Amino acid sequence: MKLSEMRFLVAEDHEFQRKTLVRALQGLGALHILEAADGHEALACFHNAPQAIDIIICDLDMPNMDGMEFIRHVGETGTKASIILTSALDRNLISSVETMTQAYGINLLGAIEKPATPQKLQDLIKRHGTSAPRPAAAQAAIPEAEIVEALDKAQFEPFFQPKVDLVKGEVVGAEALARWHHPQRGMVPPNAFIRVLENKGLIDKLTWIMVDRSAAACAAWRRQGLSLTVSVNLSPKSLDDPALADRITELVQKRGLQPRDMILEITESAAMTDVARALENLARLRVKGFGLSIDDYGTGYSSMQQLARIPFTELKIDQSFVTDAAAHPQRGVMLESSIDMAHKLGLKVVAEGVETRADWNQLKRIGCSLAQGYFIAKPMPAAEFVDWALEWTPPE
Ligand code: C2E
Ligand code: CA
Ligand code: CA
Repeated sequence: MKLSEMRFLVAEDHEFQRKTLVRALQGLGALHILEAADGHEALACFHNAPQAIDIIICDLDMPNMDGMEFIRHVGETGTKASIILTSALDRNLISSVETMTQAYGINLLGAIEKPATPQKLQDLIKRHGTSAPRPAAAQAAIPEAEIVEALDKAQFEPFFQPKVDLVKGEVVGAEALARWHHPQRGMVPPNAFIRVLENKGLIDKLTWIMVDRSAAACAAWRRQGLSLTVSVNLSPKSLDDPALADRITELVQKRGLQPRDMILEITESAAMTDVARALENLARLRVKGFGLSIDDYGTGYSSMQQLARIPFTELKIDQSFVTDAAAHPQRGVMLESSIDMAHKLGLKVVAEGVETRADWNQLKRIGCSLAQGYFIAKPMPAAEFVDWALEWTPPE
């Protein structure tokens, strides 16, 4: 969409700043601009023509109705409009409102610390219409029966996303991520089916498919001279089964792979009902030689307590601490201290969600050993992975 066709709403109580924003937008070529001096006015504009607004530029600190409340009301309308936040307040606060905005389901283009320059505005406006659809609205739930049937029809397969060594610049392994190759819907991501399979007690079936196919792929890479590890996600529900470790070992060895070549990633959760049994399983997997990785570290249940009681070999720092860490000093601090702690505990550490060169540089600077994310590569089918790995060269 051309900037001249976009419709803007500028909510800013400070008249001089509002005029500055409007002039900056006009300078960029905008023709349709509505102005509001507080949240109430902005909401009135919005309610008059909710479909007619593409981008809202919103100050946080306004009298009567502040930016936060305005954003909440806008979120409740389920709008397709995007938001740019502007504020003179500190970065941590803006960061928190960014999270809030996304949690209200609004497409956030970014935040600008005042003064807003035309360049800063233009960079964010460019993002409009390029982001992924909102997760909640993106896809209607797929009927459970269809998911269960897909297991029998073997429509699930692993995609592989590389893990690379930041220092040596080498590919060291890949994480297997489940994809459902749906005959009509196309490629369906795991959040559409994992929960259902867990609730129906069928997640183990998927786990066996993933372990088997991933072991086969990894054994093939090794035959082609790529000495890589493969990581597979384990559902905490699977840890209730005392035969788990033997089953996985058998599958892996049948494919000609050693347990030490496979890493099992675990996010501890409330679903881990029988803690003693889970610990027994994890200890047994470790004894057999599998690597154990604590996934989503820093979120929910993946905490320091788990680090102390489970014999992990690797820590995966959740992407919420990694993506854009350079621009969010708090994330940076948490990232850096998690890396430091992992190294002191003798664990490998993987930063997930490396999306940009800035993320990559930041991780190198603070001494992270391994990285994974879209900046390196998106998850890809097994058939593409070898060529990708052979051709890859690290960013200098
Ligand atoms: P996860 O284990 O934390 O996997 C990482 C997720 O982040 C993947 O999403 C991956 O595609 C995505 N990702 C990778 N790089 C980036 C990046 O730079 N930026 C962003 N924003 N995202 C990135 P995916 O494939 O949709 O998987 C979602 C979750 O589903 C996984 O999160 C994992 O918890 C679960 N899952 C996937 N496959 C399996 C499986 O075979 N078994 C089980 N039990 N769970 C699985
Ligand atoms: Ca994982
Ligand atoms: Ca993760």
